[in-house]
Amino acid sequence: MKNYRSARWILLILGLIAIIALTGLNVYTLYNLRDTRLEADHERRNRQLKDISIKLTQELNKPFFGLDKLNLISIDSYFKRTGEFPTVFKEEVLEVLNSELFTDVYYTPYEVNPCESEPILRYDSEANAFMEVISYPKLVCDGTGVARTRVNTIFINNFDDAPHNNVIGYDTHRTLNIALMNTIDRSTIGYLTFVFSKENLVNFIKPSIIDEFGNEDDSKVAVWLHDWVHDEVLATNAPNLPFSVDLVDYRENLNNFPDWNLKIRYNTIESGATYTTNLIKDLLVLSAAVFMLIGALLFMFRTAQKERKLAIRQADFIANVTHELKTPLAVMQAAGENIADGRVTEQNRLQKYGDHIYHESIRLRKMIEKLLDVAKVDAGRALIKPAPHNLGELTASFIEHQLPYLSDKGFTVTEAIAKNVPVSMIDPDSFETILSNLTENAVKYSAETKHIHYEVAVQNGNVICSITDKGVGIPSKEQRFIFDKFYRVEDPLTATTKGHGLGLSIIKNHVNLNNGSITLESNPGSGTTFSVSFPIFIDNSVSQAVPNPGSPENKQSNKNNIEYVG
Ligand code: ADP
Repeated sequence: MKNYRSARWILLILGLIAIIALTGLNVYTLYNLRDTRLEADHERRNRQLKDISIKLTQELNKPFFGLDKLNLISIDSYFKRTGEFPTVFKEEVLEVLNSELFTDVYYTPYEVNPCESEPILRYDSEANAFMEVISYPKLVCDGTGVARTRVNTIFINNFDDAPHNNVIGYDTHRTLNIALMNTIDRSTIGYLTFVFSKENLVNFIKPSIIDEFGNEDDSKVAVWLHDWVHDEVLATNAPNLPFSVDLVDYRENLNNFPDWNLKIRYNTIESGATYTTNLIKDLLVLSAAVFMLIGALLFMFRTAQKERKLAIRQADFIANVTHELKTPLAVMQAAGENIADGRVTEQNRLQKYGDHIYHESIRLRKMIEKLLDVAKVDAGRALIKPAPHNLGELTASFIEHQLPYLSDKGFTVTEAIAKNVPVSMIDPDSFETILSNLTENAVKYSAETKHIHYEVAVQNGNVICSITDKGVGIPSKEQRFIFDKFYRVEDPLTATTKGHGLGLSIIKNHVNLNNGSITLESNPGSGTTFSVSFPIFIDNSVSQAVPNPGSPENKQSNKNNIEYVG
């Protein structure tokens, strides 16, 4: 039995550990899931930023693909001969200008130095011809410088792998420069400098941002095209959100525009982040499930403990009952044998044996009655015959019959029974069983002070009958169990007192059968009061009012206060 008990505890602890471990694992997985989702979401956002950058590069490069296919050597010789470019070349240049990212295009022959303000050529779209200009922006000088450097680093080094006829170099967001190359002798023919329109560039990028990310008000994602050198926001989908570097979660550089980059904030309302909200929801569901699981586990454990205790009590009960049935039988058998043998002839010994047989048979009968009572209630066959009875009278008569027995046991008895108690519908046998069991308990569980007080009062439409003793009392934590079948309080007096934990369960059943209720008040060490309450019977058929229960004031004066001394 002990082994089973420790096994049950071990299983409970293992069950709790398993729940805690599973919960931990689940919480960890949920957090991981949230992080993975967030990461995936962030990666998707980053890719969208990259897409904008790629789209821009493609748009910039698109017009130049045609240049690759031109024979620049013959174009150069045509130019040298006529001072003019052939139409195919001008068509390609026009194609570039049509993309609207550029405002102007200049041509600087290799031997001319724009940094020295020497005359160069500017494309005039109206004349569809390159015209000589002596006044032009300084950025043309910078642009040819960039192209020259690119030629040195890219064209010369990679020529054998990719013998292109041009080399492109960007001067941040100001110019795009193309060095036109002679692929035969690897010399530079001249430089084309396309001047960017900053406004058009921004206008090209802005719709892409809105296309990809929508408005910040809806998507809660903020994207800025930022000129970090001048700390200027050039375009954004979040015009109402003041830009700050602290807000930035990720930045994507723009190819060819090192001064500019795209910056993103993944979620502009942190506390409402969808994944965090989902995580909180998941955690709430998980906690509810865990609470239910732990509750169920503890409930099952408690029920198993209760069942075990009940089984032990039942086993003890059967052992005790068997023993107690045998004892009076053995006494009766011995006494009967002696009388039957004719060995006992003396009058007073005969009387003593008869007395023994009488008392033991009463004990036996009581015990059998109790068992039958329990069995009947258990089988749902407890029959009662309710009739209108005055509980005051029934109690008084009960006390009268019990007095000799109680005096014998050394008890003093007092009673306070209200006068004119209205009748209640009750089975008198049930009431007798209730009173005798309560009295029996008062006797059993009184130690030094042997006193019982009976009271019958009328209150709120009920007749209340109380029995108070000055015995050992019942600890408050035990009080809700004592009406359970086979339950006995574990204290030294109970241990030495005979009983099976059935009396109160029988009482409760009888009280319920008669539509009443039972309560108790007890202070360990100073005594216990059990009160049974039954509704006053109102006989509607004769529409006769029951006697007035009386107000609390006249209740006192209505009582018979009697004291008996044992
Ligand atoms: P039994 O008396 O046979 O043990 P009961 O069902 O009548 O069974 O009572 C259950 C338990 O309640 C008792 O074992 C005892 O511990 C406690 N009890 C009942 N009545 C009293 C009382 N008047 N004073 C103190 N303890 C009581």
